[in-house]
Amino acid sequence: MAEMQFKTEVNDLLHLIIHSLYSNKEIFLRELISNASDALDKLKYLTLTDEKLKSLAFDPRIDISFTEGDKRTLTITDNGIGMNEDDLNNNLGTIASSGTKRFLASLTDEQKKDSNLIGQFGVGFYSAFMVSDRIEVVSRKAGEEKAYKWSSDGKGTYSIDPAQRDGQGTTITLYLNEDGADYANRWELEQLVKKYSDNISFPIFLAYDDVTYDDKEKDKDGNAKKVVTHKVEQINSCQALWKRSKSELKPEDYQNFYKNTFHDTDDAMFYLHTKAEGSIEYTTLFYVPKTAPFDMYYADYKPGVRLYVKRVFITDDDKQLLPTYLRFVRGIIDSEDLPLNVSREILQQNRIMSSIRSNSVKKLLAEFKRISEQEPEKYIDFIKQYNRPLKEGLYSDWENRDELMELVRFKSSKVDGYVSLKDYKSRMPKDQKSIYYISGGKEETLKASPLIEAYTKKGFEVLVLDEEIDEFVASSIGSYQSLPLKAINKSGSMDDMKDEASKQKAEEGKGVVEKIKASLKDQVKDVVVSSRLTDTPAVIVVDDSAPTVQMQQILKQMGQPVVESKPILEINADDPMIKKIGAEGDQKLIDTWCGVLLDQALLAQGVMPKDPVAFTRRLHELLSK
Ligand code: ADP
Repeated sequence: MAEMQFKTEVNDLLHLIIHSLYSNKEIFLRELISNASDALDKLKYLTLTDEKLKSLAFDPRIDISFTEGDKRTLTITDNGIGMNEDDLNNNLGTIASSGTKRFLASLTDEQKKDSNLIGQFGVGFYSAFMVSDRIEVVSRKAGEEKAYKWSSDGKGTYSIDPAQRDGQGTTITLYLNEDGADYANRWELEQLVKKYSDNISFPIFLAYDDVTYDDKEKDKDGNAKKVVTHKVEQINSCQALWKRSKSELKPEDYQNFYKNTFHDTDDAMFYLHTKAEGSIEYTTLFYVPKTAPFDMYYADYKPGVRLYVKRVFITDDDKQLLPTYLRFVRGIIDSEDLPLNVSREILQQNRIMSSIRSNSVKKLLAEFKRISEQEPEKYIDFIKQYNRPLKEGLYSDWENRDELMELVRFKSSKVDGYVSLKDYKSRMPKDQKSIYYISGGKEETLKASPLIEAYTKKGFEVLVLDEEIDEFVASSIGSYQSLPLKAINKSGSMDDMKDEASKQKAEEGKGVVEKIKASLKDQVKDVVVSSRLTDTPAVIVVDDSAPTVQMQQILKQMGQPVVESKPILEINADDPMIKKIGAEGDQKLIDTWCGVLLDQALLAQGVMPKDPVAFTRRLHELLSK
């Protein structure tokens, strides 16, 4: 059969693996065993659910053997689901996951050297090329007659030919290169399987030649006779880790299981192992990765939870197992009560599943809370990775809103780093009646806002909501423990600092307000006298219901339709510039002043003036006077 070309992205991936994982090349074995175990999981499921395969005698196992000498080889065999010709082409000639493809494309050269990054997506089968000159895969799909051999040296092409194989399954033979020579060794293999694959729930057997010397029988030179016995020995303990009791498991056990199962090179940030007994029985083991999965913000992200029923693997591709905002969680759900042949549709409406799901969410959120209280440093790491998905939960998971409100963190005018709403509330002075925030821009721009200064002077802390999602979040929170959340750059907060003096100021300012309104006409919705500005002539605020000016700008850049809401100009009647306008009689000059006033207020919020040329011309006009 003809040589076939790898898809370009496979070449990229191969290159990347070989260069970035080199120091960790032993993981290839874990990857191949994990594939074999998946193949056994898939077949086990089919023998229980698929009429055609129900009669199959199935004795699941993974076999490892090797040859020493000049031509060292290593062979990994499973009697799992197997692959036919199409499967071989699709699975071992391309990268099936579009997420992985895009992730690869998005990496810079610098990032490509970071093996932690690459560890985040299963490097899989291709990692075996780190230790092989050539790889052969002989496979026969369960329920089919024909077997095929896939073969490649990993240098751009592969071939597929008809082959022979007894029974279903896959045999992978690695023709080890110099770097792989050490792996054709009993002790090395045993140790690697113990390290990485001990919890694989199928038996892994190692075949080796046991050499002993018999003293009683001498060879012709008078030395003890060499006796070679061929042995096959099970080398993993083969117990589903999550079914073992917490007390017998060590942190390394949990972490090794995590790295094996979820293809991470790093330990998990933390994990949570729970057994529920009672009306419904199930076990969950959840992990939070140290770094957010690379596809967390892709619509076609790969879900991280594997569903088992009585230890039989059912699916790892169901986005309903946990709510979308918890898509970064990896783990296992193993139910004793679900039927084995649950379909996706059934899962969605199943009462047992929805109860497991909702309890799992509660457990996870409770654990996040515990960490926030007992391990604040770890919680900061967690927030750095997952604040944003948690915020999504605020507007998608009403049931757990109160818990989520305690978990999310915001930046603030008062302290560096992150604050919780609880901290904010506890620091509030007695006369403060609302939680203030500013949103719709970059952190630096927001923090430099003259409005913040006014609040800080009064001893009020302002939350700095600089993430795009924040504006939706703030409006969906609405209030926290009966304190309304108010955007200081929206009209609803303007009256908050009114006192007797400011009422008088508003009266006095009426004249200049009218003058500015008449000059700016429909460029502004309104002009009002400020009760809060001190060192700035004017700021922009928007209507409570409207997105901030910065948000409007972002939406526009994203190509979203925006109903433009006109700004409200809030002026500081004590400012010399405003006073000047008040005193000026020449209409042309008033127009110039007002134009500059509006544009510089926009600029201060990081928003471009509508007509930058006109702005600079006016500025020049004033400066040269
Ligand atoms: P991943 O395991 O992350 O999907 P791999 O590159 O390791 O990526 O494998 C690609 C695909 O090849 C697998 O998803 C699976 O469908 C198939 N595959 C690999 N090894 C086996 C095997 N031993 N038996 C059956 N299918 C396999």
